[in-house]
Amino acid sequence: MPQIRLEGVSKNYRQEPDKRIIAAVQDVNLTIEQGEFVFITGSSGAGKSTLLQLLSCETQPSRGSVYLDDINVSSLARWLWERKRQSFGYVPQVSTLIRKKTIAENLFPVAALGPGRSRSAEERMIKALRLVGMGDVLYRYPVELSQGECRRVELARAIVNNPPILALDELTANLDEDTAWDIFLFLTEVNHHGTTVIMATHAKNFVNLMRRRVITLVDGRILGDVQKGRYGDVV
Ligand code: ADP
Ligand code: MG
Repeated sequence: MPQIRLEGVSKNYRQEPDKRIIAAVQDVNLTIEQGEFVFITGSSGAGKSTLLQLLSCETQPSRGSVYLDDINVSSLARWLWERKRQSFGYVPQVSTLIRKKTIAENLFPVAALGPGRSRSAEERMIKALRLVGMGDVLYRYPVELSQGECRRVELARAIVNNPPILALDELTANLDEDTAWDIFLFLTEVNHHGTTVIMATHAKNFVNLMRRRVITLVDGRILGDVQKGRYGDVV
């Protein structure tokens, strides 16, 4: 089961239109063990999404190295891509559900990458949707669902092949408290069964209630990394 390690990792972006270089993440050293529950917090623009993308191998660092179980993942070897794909369930900050496709059509391309035939892919989709309380939306369209329901569908897509690591970006932003709490309880359960959960979030109340590892970013740098932390803890 994978451990993720970042060594001296920075990520720069060239911003349009002035071509200014922005250091979204700067010189980060970080290890996340299998089975941890980690919150990534910080104000808007602090680099949470970028750090989450680096941790889940969604993007390559400008400097430094990312290791998945001591294997440097900057290599482009095909077997490594396969390994990455099997390791992570990722939900980006902005919804990527395709509006003109049903929920089943949205989930199927991911489910089909899992083991077995398309029949078992369908079974996995139904099971994942049921787990997040969305068992009956298979043939509906994203526009017919609320924002919270869409986020739950995206979570279902992330867990459909039962990956060992979940990387979730602002999954509960803009949701009512009850829905957000349901999602946190579900993630606690998933984590209890051994899945690593890494979550970029602003949800101060929940972070303070959960008392898990809290990483605080300021201007792309880690200013706090506290076990059983609270929102804003800086050590
Ligand atoms: P957060 O998730 O904490 O709000 P981000 O990681 O999204 O922070 O962004 C950190 C910084 O990097 C911001 O200044 C943002 O504008 C910049 N940035 C992020 N992604 C890109 C991108 N694809 N292109 C250019 N700049 C980006
Ligand atoms: Mg973000």
